[in-house]
Amino acid sequence: MMTKTVIIGTNHAGIAAANTLLDNYPDQEVVMIDRNSNLSYLGCGTALWVGRQVNDYHGLFYTKVEDFTNKGAKITLEAEVKDIDFDKKVVHYIKKDGTELTEDYDKLILATGSLPISPNVAGKDLNGIHFLKLFQDGQDVDKEISAEEVKNVAVIGAGYIGVEIAEAAKRRGKNVLLF
Ligand SMILES: Cc1cc2nc3c(=O)[nH]c(=O)nc-3n(C[C@H](O)[C@H](O)[C@H](O)COP(=O)(O)OP(=O)(O)OC[C@H]3O[C@@H](n4cnc5c(N)ncnc54)[C@H](O)[C@@H]3O)c2cc1C
Repeated sequence: MMTKTVIIGTNHAGIAAANTLLDNYPDQEVVMIDRNSNLSYLGCGTALWVGRQVNDYHGLFYTKVEDFTNKGAKITLEAEVKDIDFDKKVVHYIKKDGTELTEDYDKLILATGSLPISPNVAGKDLNGIHFLKLFQDGQDVDKEISAEEVKNVAVIGAGYIGVEIAEAAKRRGKNVLLF
């Protein structure tokens, strides 16, 4: 008998779960859902790209939708899970175009990851402020840093992500403040 597993979140954790199921368990029907438009972006490459230590960001993805459909999985991107009925075992999700869909499951894997903390400070919604998590965020930061008129870059958060992006901005000739 087939077991249907729904995986919410198709980035690194969701990808690993899907490949483990699809490669090792022939009784698995796998459904994958993610709200992002891409999967498998290696965030570690953002600073390398922004600092132009690599000259192409396309190599920062290691898998694609077809790799899963070819193994028989159903995968939907740009679709956000809004509700889960744990009693009936049904996932409710909505596509970018507004279409509402449901998927029932035997097993559910939540690989929904994390979000950056947004400090509640005045001005946090001003232009020119970016998080650094998604592929899209990295592209936004890169665009900003590529602008000639941008001379000073402030990085908030001096963990390894902050330090690496500070170094990248320095490589691009900016004055950098690291908090
Ligand atoms: C700039 C940067 C540099 C990094 N460098 C390194 C490094 O050098 N080495 C290292 O080991 N790690 C690094 N990391 C950390 C690494 O990227 C994370 O640990 C990893 O992304 C976690 O994977 P995940 O699949 O658990 O979560 P995530 O990558 O957060 O993925 C979660 C997925 O769930 C989806 N999702 C969430 N909620 C919903 C919903 N309601 N409906 C549909 N989809 C949903 C999201 O769209 C997302 O695609 C870095 C991270 C960043 C941001």
